[in-house]
Amino acid sequence: MANFFETKIEFLKGVGPQRAAVLQKELRIFCYGDLIQHYPFRYEDRSVIHKIKDINESMQFIQLRGRITYFDTIGEKFKKRLVATLADDTGSIELVWFQGISWVEKQLAIGTEFVVFGKPNLYNHTFNIPHPEIDTIAEAAQKVGFLQPVYHSTEKLRNFNLDSKGIAKLQHKLVEQALPLVRETLPDGLMAKYQLISKKLAVQHIHFPKDEKWLETAKTRLKFEELFYVQLKLISLKVFRKNTFKGQVFKHIPLVNEFYKSHLPFDLTNAQKRVVREIYADICSGKQMNRLLQGDVGSGKTIVGFICMLMAIDNNAQACIMAPTEILAAQHYTGLKEFADLLGITIAKLTGSTKKSERVKIHEALQSGELKLLVGTHALLEDVVQFNNLGLCIIDEQHRFGVAQRAKLWGKNKDGIPPHILVMTATPIPRTLAMTLYGDLDSSVIDEMPAGRKPIKTVHRKDANRLAVFGFMKDEIKKGRQIYIVYPLIEESAKLDLKDLMDGYESIARAFPDMLISIVHGKMKPKDKDFEMQRFVRGEAQLMVATTVIEVGVNVPNASVMVIENAERFGLSQLHQLRGRVGRGADQSYCILMSSNKVGVDGRTRLETMVQTDNGFEIADVDLKLRGPGDLAGTQQSGVLDLLITDLAKDGHIVKLAREAVETILEADPNLNHPAHERIKNQVDSQDKNASNWSRIS
Ligand code: ADP
Ligand code: MG
Repeated sequence: MANFFETKIEFLKGVGPQRAAVLQKELRIFCYGDLIQHYPFRYEDRSVIHKIKDINESMQFIQLRGRITYFDTIGEKFKKRLVATLADDTGSIELVWFQGISWVEKQLAIGTEFVVFGKPNLYNHTFNIPHPEIDTIAEAAQKVGFLQPVYHSTEKLRNFNLDSKGIAKLQHKLVEQALPLVRETLPDGLMAKYQLISKKLAVQHIHFPKDEKWLETAKTRLKFEELFYVQLKLISLKVFRKNTFKGQVFKHIPLVNEFYKSHLPFDLTNAQKRVVREIYADICSGKQMNRLLQGDVGSGKTIVGFICMLMAIDNNAQACIMAPTEILAAQHYTGLKEFADLLGITIAKLTGSTKKSERVKIHEALQSGELKLLVGTHALLEDVVQFNNLGLCIIDEQHRFGVAQRAKLWGKNKDGIPPHILVMTATPIPRTLAMTLYGDLDSSVIDEMPAGRKPIKTVHRKDANRLAVFGFMKDEIKKGRQIYIVYPLIEESAKLDLKDLMDGYESIARAFPDMLISIVHGKMKPKDKDFEMQRFVRGEAQLMVATTVIEVGVNVPNASVMVIENAERFGLSQLHQLRGRVGRGADQSYCILMSSNKVGVDGRTRLETMVQTDNGFEIADVDLKLRGPGDLAGTQQSGVLDLLITDLAKDGHIVKLAREAVETILEADPNLNHPAHERIKNQVDSQDKNASNWSRIS
């Protein structure tokens, strides 16, 4: 008999071909195993009923009990919605549905008592509940007293009676049949060591928990298992690479020494020195380096990168640095060219806007080995770009690059020896997220800022204070400073944002009539962008109005004020990154976060965090908690984070345990040949069979 868990979902009693098709399409549930792994995303505790007058902003899901006093369908076509009023003896609240209207409407009746379950939402100073679940008193009575699983569903699934309740019914049948067949995936010793319950019990209690305590132990067990196998994959990959790929050895470092002694414009911080040593040790080890370098904005990652590139050049190899935007590549090029010229090193820049003739020259010089240092964007990844002997590749601000792109750099050498790879992140990422996203890399951290930096003063101001803010800006310009004014740019509404930007530009132009203002946004041609940027870099323009294109890397030490408009719309790491554009010179710097008068809870937390701390690692932790890991990592890497049950924002401690467990096991038994590790080996084999998930990360 084929594996029970691979049985097609249509054969489950109560499913059939039609519903199977929808389950596949909507939730990618193809077989029994998929459905079992469609875990509840929350559980309803139906023992508490709230009073309407007690509702407040901090409440998540709540249960109310009352009578419907009014309902009606309003609006036209696409904006059509069903509104109803629910009243208890303390007050009333509006309920709203935008979808499935006719189905809900059939159940409503004036005067009938319902138990309503949903998440209150503050709108125009009053609360409403969008898309609540409603039960008659009889239905609700059945739910009291234990934890109800709630499953993700969709509008289409609801049309086939597969709302959360419908799915729960299927799960009930399936789990019952499946339990005797559930295979243990972790060794007994490991479960004992980490006090984990069996897989069988975990599957049972994740769907139908006996109580809170059982639910917690079931979750912990499943999360541990999930993270254990993620870490196993990552660390095996790391070990495999170390054992397989030779690295070029770059021992001789005359240029590094010359640069260090004669040209370094400042003393390196102890952290920078330590990281240079770590990288040098890697590069001399005879193995390929795959290292992540993290450091806060302004901690001086670039100079560390340059010194490492010199190590390669010192040994007749070439080096390149790849940045995510044209602007950043240009900035790196200008900065690095200054150093390269001092040392007589050939350097070029290659981006999407490099002219054809220039491009051809660069390609040739790379292949002959005459060109030593290349700065660029994604253009570096094109197949025509081939090196004579690429020794080191630095990927700056990695979280914008996909992991597949990282791998592409490997084949850039004639002789096939892969270059050493150094990945730099733009802002710090929380440790547990780094362990998952970059768990296959070694890691270095610059945890110290260059001496003498004045902390940036950060304030939050509302639109009503705008005149005072303009006054302050004028004073700073009089002192000879330059100012950034940044507007949000969010993809879906790019048009609207561009209008915001242009309106902003006009009002700035009116308020600062004698000033030269640069403007930069994503829709501009690279050439125009560069022109505007350069005017600001050279100090001709006093003000720079921009969207977030200036977010990464741009370095103008004389710019000492960063004004961020609609700051509540930015993510935390973005705000921190933007703030890092100032505070690079000797002057006192300021960051002014402008917002409208009304800001939601998350927005307020973000702004308060910015005002309170300038520590990028702390900010990253808050950001992870607010946004969750998917957003943080960016869409390109979300494949790595296809975690079924783990929430990296909350389960950091389990990540650490799982990693520690994997390290211990692999150290003792790298090939998993020990009989005690048989289950691990089997599980890896069966995962390799469904390798599609993994090809995305390796
Ligand atoms: P990031 O880590 O954000 O990429 P950069 O490499 O752009 O930071 O460095 C920020 C600024 O600090 C640059 O102007 C750089 O020249 C300067 N800098 C770097 N290291 C030091 C140091 N040890 N002492 C003083 N200034 C430094
Ligand atoms: Mg940088």
